[in-house]
Parts: sequence; C-alpha cells; structure tokens
Amino acid sequence: MGKVALERARRQFFEGDAVEPVGVRDVIRQSWARARELAVPLDGPVVRFLEVDSDSLLERAARPVLHTMLDRLPDVALISALAGPDALLRLRFGGDPTFVRLLTDQGAFLQGYDFSESVVGTNGIGTALAIGRPVMVDGGEHYVEGADTVSCAAAPIRDPVSGAIVGAVNFTCPSRDSSPLLLAMTTSAAAQIERELLTTASHADLAALRSQTDPAAQRALALVEQRRSALREHLHRVSMAATSTDVCSLLAQIMHVARRLFPFDAVWAMRRVGDAPLRVVAVDGDVAPGAVGAVVPEETAMMLDHAAQGDLGRAGPERMSRRPLAGMPTGIRPLPGQQRLIRRWIVAAAPPGAPSPAGSSSQTVLVVASDLALPGGPGQRGLSRDLLTEIAFACDTACRFEEVTRLAVSDPLTGLPNRRRFLELAAQTFDRCRSSGQPLATFMVDIDRFKRVNDTYGHRVGDLVLVRVAACIQAVLRSGDIVGRIGGEEIAVVTVATPPDAMALAERLRRAVAGAGLESDDGPRAVTVSLGVACLEERDHCLSDLLDRADRALYAAKAAGRDRVVGD
Ligand code: GH3
Ligand code: MG
Ligand code: MG
Repeated sequence: MGKVALERARRQFFEGDAVEPVGVRDVIRQSWARARELAVPLDGPVVRFLEVDSDSLLERAARPVLHTMLDRLPDVALISALAGPDALLRLRFGGDPTFVRLLTDQGAFLQGYDFSESVVGTNGIGTALAIGRPVMVDGGEHYVEGADTVSCAAAPIRDPVSGAIVGAVNFTCPSRDSSPLLLAMTTSAAAQIERELLTTASHADLAALRSQTDPAAQRALALVEQRRSALREHLHRVSMAATSTDVCSLLAQIMHVARRLFPFDAVWAMRRVGDAPLRVVAVDGDVAPGAVGAVVPEETAMMLDHAAQGDLGRAGPERMSRRPLAGMPTGIRPLPGQQRLIRRWIVAAAPPGAPSPAGSSSQTVLVVASDLALPGGPGQRGLSRDLLTEIAFACDTACRFEEVTRLAVSDPLTGLPNRRRFLELAAQTFDRCRSSGQPLATFMVDIDRFKRVNDTYGHRVGDLVLVRVAACIQAVLRSGDIVGRIGGEEIAVVTVATPPDAMALAERLRRAVAGAGLESDDGPRAVTVSLGVACLEERDHCLSDLLDRADRALYAAKAAGRDRVVGD
C-alpha cells in the first residue's frame, strides 16, 4: 500500500469511519484501534516526558548487549533503544547525527519520553509491549510525518523467572525494508538481555523456579546456575592467581570481574588484627592510593563492624546500601582516601576463620560504594551477599598469605628482616650496583660488651636492649637502605652511597645508639655499638667479599676500643 493510500486509510479509520481498512497489516490495524480508543491525537503525538532511572538492573543488563550489537554494524546508522515496561525510553545508543535529529524532531526519541501507544499511536515499542511479542513497524505504517522511510522493530523483554514483561528493546534504521533484519536483531537482543537478567535473579526466585516442572523454567534454571558458577569460578581463579602478589592488585583484579554486577565507584578492603585498629589494606576505584595503611577512625570502624555483622546475620549486605554518608551519625568522617561524598554503600565481612598467622584474631571488612543504585533490591540480595563475602574472603586469604610471607622472612624479636632475607635483598642490590657502577657500602654493627649486659641484667633486659638498638638503627636509615639481623647481636646494613657518605651515615648510626638514652634503673648504664664499613671496590666479586671486609673492619673497631666506626 502506497504512502498516500495508507495515510488516507488511517485518517478514515481514526475519524470513526466504520470502513475496515484494506491492505493494512493486522498488527497495525489493531494498534490503530487501540490508539483510537485511547484518543491519541491524529496529527502527531504530544509526547510525554518523565524522569527515568537510567541505571536500573534492566539497563545494566541491556547496555552491553545493545553496544555489542551496534558494534557489529559500524556502517549502519542504526539506533538501538531500551524502554521500560511503561514504554518510557531508558537508553538510546547509535545512529548518525542526521538520523538522530530526524527522530528526536519527530517524536522526541530521547531518554524519558513516552513511547506507549496511548501517546504515540503506532510504534514498535508501544506495540511490542501491548501485544507481548516481537513486532516490526515500518515508517510508512507509523503516522509520524517524515519518518516514512524508517524501518523499526521491537521486542518485549521478559523477567526470566516470572515471565512478566519488564521492558522492550528497539532497533530503528533510516533505510526502507530493513524491518525483517531488525526484527531478528531485537529478538536476539531481548533473549540476551533476559539471560543477563537471570544472572542476578534472587535465591527466592530460583527456589520458586526449582519447584516448577515446566521444561522452559528448568532450562532457565540450568542456565542461571551455569552462569553463576562460571562467574564464581572466574572470581575464584582470579583470587587464586593473585594471591602471590599483593592485596591491592588482588582487589583490582577481582573488582574488574565484579564490575559486571556492581557498578561501583570505590572499594576499600580493611583488616583488623587482634586489638589493633581497623586499617585499610587495599583500595580500588575512586580512592586515593595513599589510603592503604591508613587507620579507620574508631567511630567509623564501629559503624562498619556493626553493618558487617548485620550483613552476615539477618539483614543482608545491602543493609547499608541506601544510607548516605551524610546521614550517618554526626562526626563520622569519610573513609580514608575518599575523594568525594558517595551516596550508596554495601558492607560485607569475611566469615571469621582461623586466627591470623601471627596468632591473633583477625577480620576483613569490605566496603563497596557507588553513586549509582547498587544491587540492593530483594531480587539481588542473595547474589550480592555471596559475591561480596567471596571477595572479602579472597582479600582475607591474601592478607594471611602476606602475613605468612612476612613472618617467614623477618626476625621475630626485632622485626628486622632475617639473615636469609637480608642476604637475598643485599645480593640483588650488590649485583645491580656492580653492573651499573653505582657506589655501594655495607656496615657490620655489633653491640659492645653485650654478654656483660646479659650476665648483669638477665636475658630479658638483653632482649629489650637488642630491640631498642634495632629500632634506633632503623630510624636513621632511609627507605632504600637494606638492613637485617644477621647474627645474635649483629645487624648488617647495605646502602647505595659513596665512601664519604657511607662513613657519615655509619657515624650517625653510632651516635644515634650512644645517645638514645637506653639506660634505665634496671638496665645498663650505656649501650654502644661498633661499626665496620666496607665500600664496593673492583676486587669485590660477590656480596660475601664485601661482607668479609666489613667484618674485618668491625674487629678493628673492637680492637681499637669499641664505640667507633672503622672503614676497611
Ligand atoms: P663485644 O662484641 O663488644 O666484643 O662483646 P660482646 O659481649 O658483645 O661479645 P660477643 O659478641 O661475643 O657476645 C654476644 C652475646 O650476645 C652472646 C649472647 O649471649 C648474646 N646474645 C646473642 N643473641 C641474643 C639474644 O637474642 N638475646 C640476648 N639477650 N642476648 C643475645
Ligand atoms: Mg658484641
Ligand atoms: Mg657479636
């Protein structure tokens, strides 16, 4: 049917002529009938506009699907759109500027505009929602003037569990006769979006699905369980793979995966060991990296603990999700490194497990914050709780791994790297400096007459002196220097420094110990150290050559009367 004839038929039909239009497809005639009943204005829609939530679960499920389909057809001025069950446009992607302008001029093809049949009359979105199945509507069948060459198709999207229509997907393109292709595309897109929605179905929904015998429901169930286990498997693999690195990179990798479900802005992993305060151990997203290591203010920590316990017990992790930070008790500051106020929160904690490797109790708390709606609705509880707990658990495991590694390489009394670790780090620096020609020096530090301290005051005081000397030395060294307890009361240092600088640093160390005021009523009157210094020379082929020379210099310092620095 030609354009003019179609237009005449439509006008006759709308003006109440009893004549049944001939040559008009059934689906269009039925749509005209609905539009007539709803008194849609004949000369074009007075489009209605409402604010819409463009980040509901439906949008999150649809966005990647629609983008992928558009990406496959880069040369076509194709527009894809998503509408809610109310036919309000939620998302619109694609199209070239001319085509977009044509559609927005004709019918306000913009987010928030109403595409229900009661407003627009005949159109893909409204018709697909009204009849509940995919439909194509050519521009010529659509009454909007100027859009007569446009092809369009739309398909309803159903809740995969309940079967209720939750929206419609629409494709529109500027060339005539493309509707059958678009129909295939919308049908496929709707099916993909439904599959995405399945991933986030709640436990209760799934239980309801399980009780059904309908083969379609069983297929849907099998699919969702497959997708969930794939996601969980992926999370698990990521956390396993990352355990050998640090907690921050683990969190970044996990959140990269979790982003498919949580459109988060910022994440903090925090940990408390024993009675120590809650500290940030890893951050990701919109958080200053300097926040790692920061102590969480006590009041905030208590609130998070409370929320996290609620999560694991009764209320689910979304308990906090809709509470704005501004609404928290007054006086609570933002979390460490927080760049700006974030509106929504979810808090979860790793289930309390074995004590930390150091023997104290420990807890890992995860806070996910987002400006967008987090999965907090009843349909999301099960999955968000499972996933966040899984992530918190992975962080907890990584923290334990780090703790074990640290304990294995440090001396339990002084906390300094042990002999093995010192030699490992020092050898790396030795090789680097030797090949690059950088200066390097090593010191052997030995406490003077330490045996006498033990004999006079006992081993407990001796231990205390050892700890204090170690702390004194560490306080003087720079962060790049390497230090370790390599023997009973012998500490070694490796520093990238020229001979004069090395001698000056050794002298500062000696003075720091001598002037530290380590004396006490029940301790030694004075504690001093002797230092032997050796600077890297051509003849030093390996680290032990350098250490041997520093050792010889230390003997010389002892022989010369102690409490002094001697260079080799
Ligand atoms: P100097 O080095 O000045 O020649 O005399 P010194 O008395 O320090 O001699 P030496 O280095 O031979 O003695 C080391 C003593 O350090 C022996 C040992 O009892 C003590 N010592 C080693 N490790 C520890 C420890 O972990 N705790 C305590 N309390 N004493 C230790
Ligand atoms: Mg000694
Ligand atoms: Mg000694």
